[in-house]
Amino acid sequence: MIPGAGGNTTVFVTQAGIVLVDTKLANNGAAILGQVRTVSGRAVSMIINTHSHPDHIGSNDYFGATVEKVTHENTKKWMAANERIASNPAVMPTKTFGDRMTLGSGKDQIDLYYFGPGHTDGDAFVVFPAIRAMAAGDIFAWKMAPLIDPMAGGSVVALPDTLEKALKGIRNVDTVIEGHGDVNTWAGFRDYTQFNRALLDAAKAGMGKRSAEQIAADLKPKFPVFTKEELLTDMEYGGTPLSRAVINVNIAFQEVGKK
Ligand SMILES: [Zn+2]
Repeated sequence: MIPGAGGNTTVFVTQAGIVLVDTKLANNGAAILGQVRTVSGRAVSMIINTHSHPDHIGSNDYFGATVEKVTHENTKKWMAANERIASNPAVMPTKTFGDRMTLGSGKDQIDLYYFGPGHTDGDAFVVFPAIRAMAAGDIFAWKMAPLIDPMAGGSVVALPDTLEKALKGIRNVDTVIEGHGDVNTWAGFRDYTQFNRALLDAAKAGMGKRSAEQIAADLKPKFPVFTKEELLTDMEYGGTPLSRAVINVNIAFQEVGKK
């Protein structure tokens, strides 16, 4: 995993070539390739983008138009809606999936899963069965409630359902690579799912009675990891885990209010 300069990049060496999951912000292609070259001399043959945000697709084009690029179908839709991205064939996906797709076989197998909206409505879970690892993208990043992007179909109300489906539907994973920040564990992913469910339940129960700040603070004793009040190191954007929880309670108020 290559951290920083946007989202984490996962590097997977296969017989057919190097598979990259996410390519950081623009102008990081050479740096990514430099890191790849410390483990393998093979060509980059495939890029999988976990979602459409510029800090995850930014350096796709460095690897050229002939490299296969795979995303969820909604991620391609958001990329196609952006003229600057859509006009560059070296960035755009060449292959998409709906709910599930398997790429390669044997120890090179990669399983792609989609379980519904969360951070966006195109969040792919990328599983490497042979090494019991998963790249989760920004539906699980920075050990805090995720940024919800309603402009790309994200939903804080759908999020716990999506995470619970992933917990149930994906098997035999020990290592979970977050979209930004650390490498986590399956147990950490389960705790995070429970936190996002508790946040939504508390927001629904407290709506109209308690402030978002009070509701988020109530989650602190049970979920200290996801409600820290310190800024995290190396985080490219501001806000503490607690402040993100407050934001997501407010988004829940808005989403529930619309129904
Ligand atoms: Zn993102």
